[in-house]
Amino acid sequence: MYSKIIDYIKSVYPGQEFIPLHEPRFIGNDRKYVLDAIDSTYVSSVGKYVDHFEEMMREYTGAKYAIAIVNGTAALHMALILADVKRDELVITQPLSFIATCNAISYIGAEPLFVDVDKNTLGLSPEKLKHFLETACEVKNNNCYHRSGKRIAACVPMHTFGHPVEIDKIIELCTKFKIAVIEDAAESLGSTYKNKQTGTFGTMGTYSFNGNKTVTCGGGGAIVTNDEKIGKLAKHLTTQAKVPHKWEFNHDQVGYNYRMPNLNAALACAQLEKLDEFINDKRVLASEYQDFFSGIKECEFVKEPVNARSNYWLNAVLLPGLTERNEFLKFTNENGVMTRPVWTLMTELPMFKNCISTDISSAKFIADRLVNIPSSSRLK
Ligand SMILES: *Cc1c(COP(=O)(O)O)cnc(C)c1O
Repeated sequence: MYSKIIDYIKSVYPGQEFIPLHEPRFIGNDRKYVLDAIDSTYVSSVGKYVDHFEEMMREYTGAKYAIAIVNGTAALHMALILADVKRDELVITQPLSFIATCNAISYIGAEPLFVDVDKNTLGLSPEKLKHFLETACEVKNNNCYHRSGKRIAACVPMHTFGHPVEIDKIIELCTKFKIAVIEDAAESLGSTYKNKQTGTFGTMGTYSFNGNKTVTCGGGGAIVTNDEKIGKLAKHLTTQAKVPHKWEFNHDQVGYNYRMPNLNAALACAQLEKLDEFINDKRVLASEYQDFFSGIKECEFVKEPVNARSNYWLNAVLLPGLTERNEFLKFTNENGVMTRPVWTLMTELPMFKNCISTDISSAKFIADRLVNIPSSSRLK
C-alpha cells in the first residue's frame, strides 16, 4: 500500500528526488515588482505597493477595508485588540489549529477556551458551540459571561487547510450571544462558503502570506473588515498610532509597528495576481488525489465540505488509527515524500493545558489519524 502511494505522489511531481509538503512558486511579476520597490527606495512601511496590495485585497475579498500587516500572527493580535478583547477575558477557539491563534490571544493576556471541531470541516463545530453557549454561558448587559464569571469577548474559528467552517451558523450563534467573531482565514485565502469569501463573514478576517501559504510575500498578513471605525483604527494602530502630519511626530495612544513593508507588499501584489491560477491548479491536484485515494481503502481523502469551495491549500488523508498514521509518516518521510501529522492539539501544550475546554473528541480523533501530503502548485 505505502509504496503504491509513494509511486503515485512521485508521479504527481515528476523528476523530483525529494517532494516537499508545500513550496512557493514565483512565476509572474514577482521579480519585477520587488526590484521596482528596491529601485524606488521605498522599502519600508510606506510605498505604492502597500496601497496597491490593500486595494487588491479589498477587490478580491469584497471587504470594504483591507489593512496590510507584517504577518498573520500580528494580524490576529491586532484584530483581537480591535474587537476589544481584554486581559483575563476568554476567547473561544478550536484545539485543532496552528499555534498562532492561541499565541495572539495570549499576547492580550486573554485565555483561549476550546470548543471541539467538526469532523467534516475540521474547523469549529457549530453544534458543540451551541451546546457550550446554551449550557455554560449567559448574556448580561449585552455581554456574554462564562459560568466562571469571565467575559467571553470573541470567537476565532479557523478554516483548516483552506476548508471553510460552517461560518454562517457560528455567526448566528455568536450574534445571539453577543460575541465578536474574528475569522482566522490564514489558510483559506480564496476559499468561499456559499459563494462568499472566507474572512468576510465575521467582524474581521485575518490572512497570512507566510512562505508556506497558498500565496506568499515572505512574511505578511492582512485584516479585512466592513466596519469603517475598525478599518480606520486598524491602520492607525498598526502604524505606531502616529497622527498624520508632514513633519511632526505625534502619537495619540500606544501603537504597534505592524505594517507590512513595501518590499514584501511588492511580492504580495505579484502573487495575488496569480491567486486564482494557483487555486485552480490546487483544485485539479485535489481531484486527482481524490480519485487515486478512492482506490486505497486504508486512506480517506479529506474533501471540501458541502456549500464550500476550498482553495485546497494543504491536502490531507485520514488513516485508520494512530499506529497506521505513524507507519505512514515514517515510510513516506524515509522515501523522499514529505508528509506531516496535524499540529499537536493546543489543549496538550503546556501553556494551554489548563485552559477551559469542552469535550474535544472529534479533534482528538482527527489528530490521531490525519496526515498532510504534498500540495505545492504544479505551475512552473
Ligand atoms: C499561518 C497561520 C497563521 C499566521 O502565521 P504567520 O506565519 O504569522 O503569518 C495564523 N493562523 C493559522 C491557522 C495559520 O496557519
